[in-house]
Amino acid sequence: MRIIRYLQDGEARYGWVLGDKAGTIEGDPYGAFQRGEATIPLAELKLLPPAQPSKIICVGRNYADHAKELGNEVPEVPMLFLKPPSSLIAHGETIILPPQTQQPEHEAELALVIGKRGRWIEPDAVGEYILGYTIANDITARDLQKRDGQWTRGKGFDTFCPFGPWIETDFDPADAVVTCTVNGELRQMGSTRDMIFSVRQLLAYISSVMTLEPGDLVLTGTPAGVGPLKDGDEIVTSIEGLGELRNTVAAEPVR
Ligand code: ZN
Repeated sequence: MRIIRYLQDGEARYGWVLGDKAGTIEGDPYGAFQRGEATIPLAELKLLPPAQPSKIICVGRNYADHAKELGNEVPEVPMLFLKPPSSLIAHGETIILPPQTQQPEHEAELALVIGKRGRWIEPDAVGEYILGYTIANDITARDLQKRDGQWTRGKGFDTFCPFGPWIETDFDPADAVVTCTVNGELRQMGSTRDMIFSVRQLLAYISSVMTLEPGDLVLTGTPAGVGPLKDGDEIVTSIEGLGELRNTVAAEPVR
């Protein structure tokens, strides 16, 4: 099932998607709910980010070819960092490039949404804690990331975490093609089979540090091919089996 959030009469609602139609979800998609028939044309809905995470946990350098392209070693344990929830935008929304960076870049990533609260999750039990999978782009101000040493500013600007359009509850993360296209030009293409740390390993490791809550979002790292973004770009992040996340790019007006 594909779960969406959308605006209706100024209120956020959950729904589900079948083909190009959507239906309502009554109740809690993390608990008990009922689905209505899918009759609403999806194209007419104003989509919201499909989850409301208390935190966004990201994994750096989780593909060897990406670590290499930036001149970094492959980490021995997962390299974790956070993005703030204020960085989230939905499918169809605009990534705003702030004036502080001269090197904004895209990073196409498989993401997952936590379905159940957990700490010290055993690798074999990881599946019980995942609501589903989605597409994200870990937008990064590469110059600020390098200059600051720690990554909060370079990764944390408003709009730097587009994700969606939906959460797919039926998905196998073992071997899915991840791509990023900018203005029709293919920039990134890799497979999740080349991740250094698997989803099982990542959730076991992350949950040994912090309690994961329903709705929390985990970005699993990007394959090689990261590259520049500029005002007016159209970016399509896609994952085989999950669909396409589309966003536009605009420069923030000088204040
Ligand atoms: Zn990333």
